[in-house]
Amino acid sequence: MEHIIVIGGGGAGAALAHDLTLRGFEVSLFEKGDLLSGTTGRHHGLLHSGARYAVHDRAAAVECVEENNILRRIAPQALEQNDGLFVAISPDDEAYGKTLLDACLASGIEAKKLSATQARKLEPALTPEVRVALQVPDATIDAWRLAMHFFATARQNGARLHPFCEVQWIDTRAGRVTGVEILNYKTRKTSIVKGDLVVNAAGAWAGRVAALAGINVPVQPGPGVLVAVEGRVTNMVINRMRPAGEGDIIVPQRGLSVLGTSLWLTDDPDDVTLPKKHITRIIENCSLMVPAVGGAPVRSVWSAARPLIRDAEASSPQQISRTFECYDHKDTHGVEGIVSLLGGKATTVRAMAEKTADLICRKTGHKIACRTRTTPLLSWRRFYAVGAEDGP
Ligand SMILES: Cc1cc2nc3c(=O)[nH]c(=O)nc-3n(C[C@H](O)[C@H](O)[C@H](O)COP(=O)(O)OP(=O)(O)OC[C@H]3O[C@@H](n4cnc5c(N)ncnc54)[C@H](O)[C@@H]3O)c2cc1C
Repeated sequence: MEHIIVIGGGGAGAALAHDLTLRGFEVSLFEKGDLLSGTTGRHHGLLHSGARYAVHDRAAAVECVEENNILRRIAPQALEQNDGLFVAISPDDEAYGKTLLDACLASGIEAKKLSATQARKLEPALTPEVRVALQVPDATIDAWRLAMHFFATARQNGARLHPFCEVQWIDTRAGRVTGVEILNYKTRKTSIVKGDLVVNAAGAWAGRVAALAGINVPVQPGPGVLVAVEGRVTNMVINRMRPAGEGDIIVPQRGLSVLGTSLWLTDDPDDVTLPKKHITRIIENCSLMVPAVGGAPVRSVWSAARPLIRDAEASSPQQISRTFECYDHKDTHGVEGIVSLLGGKATTVRAMAEKTADLICRKTGHKIACRTRTTPLLSWRRFYAVGAEDGP
């Protein structure tokens, strides 16, 4: 079978390595840092029900709810199936609730209206100002463990995973992509790896990787800040019942509560600063929903960049769709042998991989059905016990 080179060891690369090995391809994955050291290892940890996107981004909402249901079946050990609440704390929020409920139901998201009393019975730490709530099938994901489930299974099925190996050059000398040059940071040596097809799954860095083959892709890095406070202020995921904005999600993660997030746009995916005013606003906004957040000690603060698909028409960064797209650069730029996978969410990496592997099957002339919807993933715990040692 063809040898596929995957660039990027985040959630998308992990899910793609899994899908391709299940379909019988030979897979080599290169990651410039450690596995999951990009955005995937630093996200909020919300398994989206899709409700956050249901009103303004229906495509992403539908993708999220479908994948939410699939991941509950194939990777239950990476999830806390705790559900989420959207809470209204102002008249405007309450008015938005009807639009939100209708959009959820139209997207296939099970949403149930709760009175303030019912919501506070489920989550006593909610502000007494709560007016009404919607219960939705959000859940908590362990960002690292979910992706390691994909890596463990891919590795068991023969994928070769190479952390600390940066792709520095893409070979297009033959008039098509024939391989990549790797710098191995452990040995400080470079080498050429030949492949039949290259997949650019470099997330927010996809623009830089595509440029190595002279290709321009519409990726838009969109960083955001996250704040972890001590203590689980709630057991459910809490969202503000209003159009997606800043400081409107609280995700319980083990003994912490992770508050998020903000969003700005940059050309540099490494420009993940920690603006102080973002931290203050996130804590202030989240404590309007759950006052205990305001007094909780801050354990850590970090940021990461979303791999958004550029959209010059979007009226604000929050309006940029969270859907994904897979580009065959033979069609976009006349360059055969390379495809780029852009956009998406940690929640939807399996679907992103399915679409990309379908494209690879079409390009290589194989008719092999995707099996990742129903194949249970090996636990992340098995990662170090299965497969070959992939290092240099
Ligand atoms: C603040 C924030 C909060 C978020 N919260 C959520 C959430 O709660 N739920 C959710 O579903 N999604 C969330 N997301 C989105 C989600 O994190 C991303 O969509 C997803 O993790 C992207 O995965 P990826 O594999 O595409 O990218 P990445 O995880 O970034 O992987 C790409 C990898 O490519 C590597 N790379 C780059 N260049 C090279 C090269 N030349 N050679 C080799 N490797 C290279 C990078 O080092 C990186 O590890 C959030 C994002 C942000 C920023």
